[in-house]
Amino acid sequence: MSNHLFDAIRAAARPEATFIETMDGRRWTYGDMLAQSARLAGALTRLGVQPGDRVAVQVEKSPEALMLYLATVRAGAIYLPLNTAYTLAELDYFIGDAEPRLVVCTPAMREGVLSIATGAQALVETLDQNGEGSLLTLAAGEADAFDDVARGPDDLAAILYTSGTTGRSKGAMLSHDNLLSNAETLREYWRFSADDRLIHALPIFHTHGLFVASNVVLLSGASMFFLPGFSAEEALRLMPVSTVMMGVPTFYVRLIQQAGLTREATANMRLFVSGSAPLLAETHRRFEEMTGQAILERYGMTETNMNTSNPYDGARIAGTVGFPLPGVSLRVTDPETGRPLGGGETGMIEVKGPNVFKGYWRMPEKTAAEFRADGFFITGDLGLVDAQGYVHIVGRGKDLVISGGYNIYPKEVETEIDQLAGVFESAVIGVPHPDFGEGVTAVVVRAPGAEIDERAILDGLKDRLARYKQPKRVMFADALPRNTMGKVQKNMLRETYADLYA
Ligand code: ATP
Ligand code: MG
Repeated sequence: MSNHLFDAIRAAARPEATFIETMDGRRWTYGDMLAQSARLAGALTRLGVQPGDRVAVQVEKSPEALMLYLATVRAGAIYLPLNTAYTLAELDYFIGDAEPRLVVCTPAMREGVLSIATGAQALVETLDQNGEGSLLTLAAGEADAFDDVARGPDDLAAILYTSGTTGRSKGAMLSHDNLLSNAETLREYWRFSADDRLIHALPIFHTHGLFVASNVVLLSGASMFFLPGFSAEEALRLMPVSTVMMGVPTFYVRLIQQAGLTREATANMRLFVSGSAPLLAETHRRFEEMTGQAILERYGMTETNMNTSNPYDGARIAGTVGFPLPGVSLRVTDPETGRPLGGGETGMIEVKGPNVFKGYWRMPEKTAAEFRADGFFITGDLGLVDAQGYVHIVGRGKDLVISGGYNIYPKEVETEIDQLAGVFESAVIGVPHPDFGEGVTAVVVRAPGAEIDERAILDGLKDRLARYKQPKRVMFADALPRNTMGKVQKNMLRETYADLYA
């Protein structure tokens, strides 16, 4: 019987080869991966998990948690990972929404989860960060081989909730082929092979660490260092024995603060990938100065997997997310009318391809609203395609500022502010304004030791930006509010400054 995603993973697995190494010296071969995911799939089946059932998982990052993802796929069920930061009240929403057959949580959360799960008629098992817990106890009694449940390309493999940056998280339904096709494309595009060793410091409840990183490694028969979280020192220590790192921009911001980041220290590394949030051009430039290597920035989202990437060979242009990946069609349209726009014009980014999800879980209206009649998915991101074909993201549709009837793209203003001496980073938002509808407002984080003030920033922008784009006020903060993926939460900033012009 064929299981679309796992058959491909199995085909790349050489039993003796290393799959995962952890910092405490433990090692999992591909043979271990096959055996452990079989035992876990056996345990799931014995618990009564049926094909198509959801298995919700909120656990700390561990190799066993990744094995549980594979086991769920093998059992024909739907993997539903949840952010470890979610509180019980938030879990209540996700469990109520997803109606999982089984919830796997940390021992510490067990009591609370049980109280929610009983109403939802879900079973509860545990898994801790050391890879122990009731689920593993059950799995220990299962066979090392498992007859994978038949699943076709369009059957669901996972429901992944979006990061909740712009509002309540939505469950994106991802099929076996959504995941497999994208991972195969990235393996080719980024030239992965069995010789690669990836520094894996991302969480595994999000598309970046779970699907981009882990599936690409699995389909290449490569190996990875599995870190519980990111530490610049640890990453630097691993670089001489690694070949690739995938990170969010924050990883790179922290790395360039390390004097140890040099050409020599990174000589064994062939690729640094960044995504999930915009990488500042300044970070890209500084990283290249220090290492001689250009970070490869790519663009994706929970709903679509990866859409675009800077090239492996050829120029990786700072501030762009590169070209549509093979098999992905991308167009830019007028957000109001949906009419396709010409090159260089800013509008809504829409994508279509085997990577694009099957819809939002139990939100048929929302799903219908986000797709065009010809199958293109409306990403919610604004951007343009330049004359060389590189895609530029200028921000989210929801973050667009409309002031005095003019559209202001925050990124354009942020880029100008960030270039001023004394500025570390900035976020530009629209805040209710009695005369203009919204007032362009900048929130600025000063560079360490810098004393730049509002006046200096406004003066610095005077000859750089049209008057309507210039901030009405500049506020200062010690840091920008970010979620676990390093995304700036502009809705929080909008709340903080809601009464600024009242
Ligand atoms: P929600 O949809 O719940 O508001 P979210 O959009 O942040 O949350 P994700 O699916 O994790 O949830 O993130 C996808 C978004 O991240 C994209 O739509 C885009 O706005 C942003 N993004 C990803 N990669 C990049 C990149 N390289 N540059 C700029 N933005 C990026
Ligand atoms: Mg989104």
